[in-house]
Amino acid sequence: MLTRRLLLASAAAIAFAAPAFAQDKLNVIASFSILGDVVQNVGGDRVEVTTLVGPDGDAHVFQPAPADAQAVAGADVIVANGLGFEGWMDRLVEASGTKAAIITASEGVTPIAFGEEGHDHGHAEGEAHDHDHEHAEGEAHDHDHAKEEAGHDHGHDGHDHGAEDPHAWQSVINVALYVGNIERGLAAADPDGAETYAANAAAYLAELDALDAEIKAAVAALPENRRTIVTSHDAFGYFAAAYGLTFVAPQGVSTEAEASAQDVAALITQIRDAGIAAVFVENIADPRLLDQIASETGAKIGGTLYSDALSGPEGPAGTYLTMMRHNIGQLTGALSQ
Ligand SMILES: [Zn+2]
Repeated sequence: MLTRRLLLASAAAIAFAAPAFAQDKLNVIASFSILGDVVQNVGGDRVEVTTLVGPDGDAHVFQPAPADAQAVAGADVIVANGLGFEGWMDRLVEASGTKAAIITASEGVTPIAFGEEGHDHGHAEGEAHDHDHEHAEGEAHDHDHAKEEAGHDHGHDGHDHGAEDPHAWQSVINVALYVGNIERGLAAADPDGAETYAANAAAYLAELDALDAEIKAAVAALPENRRTIVTSHDAFGYFAAAYGLTFVAPQGVSTEAEASAQDVAALITQIRDAGIAAVFVENIADPRLLDQIASETGAKIGGTLYSDALSGPEGPAGTYLTMMRHNIGQLTGALSQ
């Protein structure tokens, strides 16, 4: 009896101690893994970062679970990419009733409109119908139905938000902007940490600078006629604009819409005619379509690119810095021969 009472007492002590410890740190939710890593770099020891869409996860088709709403409800700060990437975020925030400050990491980025750089495969049908937006907002008030609603209209969101390409993090210069926004947002939520956030941000910006120079040098070393490549979905528009490669994809800027047979046929013709150097699969996408395209054209599979999510910590792309270095390694490995 005594033992049992002691066990209960110590269990209660642990249960009591855990939240008190967690409260010492700023409780920050990042929408997806790449952003979570950037936030962790700026926040350092002062923040506890939770990521909604984890490693190898696809944020385009994410459906928040009740546990996600709970996590959001308890957050001090939420960091989202913006640019329409997280079509599910507004509803999640509203349903959770959270009082958290919200940081939009991409604020100040010059958006690329999709289709601007010839990335216009795969979204010919059903582009931007405004009524979908009202529809989504009108449904957002009921807690219990949050999950079901997410399932309902996620088929439309890719089109609603398709006006801008959300994948701004594929340009290192944009991530430097993310760092500034995150630093300011964390300092506003936790003024005592302002100096720490500024110092962390400065150190991380130096690493980003080095990475940016590395990517530019790697691309400059590639033969001029081997700079066009195929990926599953159009995630590399900002990378293309910043570093001078050309990407074509059978799917649009969201993975929600399936590639049409016409788009795939057009792409196959393009690969045959233009002598595209290599085809890359993505960590978040089913590789079968790309395997088919490669076998029909004789293009080789150049490797796996990490587009919208990190790998797990043991994988080759566990942080933003290693992800970008991994991608450039895959690209130069396939294109420089
Ligand atoms: Zn994407």
